[in-house]
Amino acid sequence: MFWQLLRDYLLKANRNISMKARETRFSSQIAYFSQLEKEVESTVLNSDYIAYFDSVSFDYPSLEDTRELETLETSDILQFIVMLNHALAQYIDAFRENEDTTQKLYAFYELLKKEACSRIPSYPKEDGYTDYLNSRNERLEQKQKLEKARVEGNICVHCGSSDVRSHGDKWKCFECGRKFRKH
Ligand SMILES: [Zn+2]
Repeated sequence: MFWQLLRDYLLKANRNISMKARETRFSSQIAYFSQLEKEVESTVLNSDYIAYFDSVSFDYPSLEDTRELETLETSDILQFIVMLNHALAQYIDAFRENEDTTQKLYAFYELLKKEACSRIPSYPKEDGYTDYLNSRNERLEQKQKLEKARVEGNICVHCGSSDVRSHGDKWKCFECGRKFRKH
């Protein structure tokens, strides 16, 4: 049942892909293809998972979910892992890791990873969820540091040098020579 939710999500996201990108999926113009393929990827993968998973109801993995998982195509499993990766990252960024929805999604993520590892021995075993959660403070600190740098011009956002001076409406770093916006 849960796997169907992921399929529905993909279908919904697919509808937001431009006709041009969709057509090109079947065309042989490779250069064009890769550019539009990026549009497909980002539309499907970077959309609002929180809005979706908050609006549907699902439970922790059941025996049926586990059984059905074994019948899924490997390519679906890999796609679902990427989707849940993005979804969980969004919930972590929203500080919602202790909520039921997040914990249920994590349980499905773990199931998928286990299945992927058993089918593909070289599949990375690292737990992306825990890793992303543990590095959240670091990410926030880094973000605040860069925001402060844009306001105060105390360090260069590119190389970290403190040799930064005002240059019109931008900051200019005299170490690496690059400029960055003031706010
Ligand atoms: Zn610099």
